[in-house]
Amino acid sequence: MSEQRQSKEQYNTLLARIRATRPEAVTTTEDRLKLPEPKTMVSGKKTYWINFIEFPNILRRDPAEFLNYFRSQLAINASIENGRAIFMGRPDKHSFSALVSRYLKERVICPVCNSPDTHLEKVKQLLSIVCEACGARSAAK
Ligand SMILES: [Zn+2]
Repeated sequence: MSEQRQSKEQYNTLLARIRATRPEAVTTTEDRLKLPEPKTMVSGKKTYWINFIEFPNILRRDPAEFLNYFRSQLAINASIENGRAIFMGRPDKHSFSALVSRYLKERVICPVCNSPDTHLEKVKQLLSIVCEACGARSAAK
């Protein structure tokens, strides 16, 4: 066993211990979801989000709903083409990853039990996060 591996195991043991004592303090839901970094490319006046489709796929969200979130948050028109999202503007590169995190908080993670195993339901224009782990229904933003 390499030293590096060993220290990683020690770290994991430590992490497990911290989690056991302070379960509410550590949330690694984002790690659990294993989301990639948004890969974007600017060309002319457009911004291409190359690996866009991976996000709604991993999060089990409707790509159109997912894109809509970014469209309204960035106030930029956008469309999906061959799995890429094309934004009609040049938003800051970092705003994509920041908005992915915000999307997770507002529309994926169950606020009751922190589970990422949720889905969205829309009833009378009201968007709710329905948790498949604890059954809670919470308002999405
Ligand atoms: Zn829950």
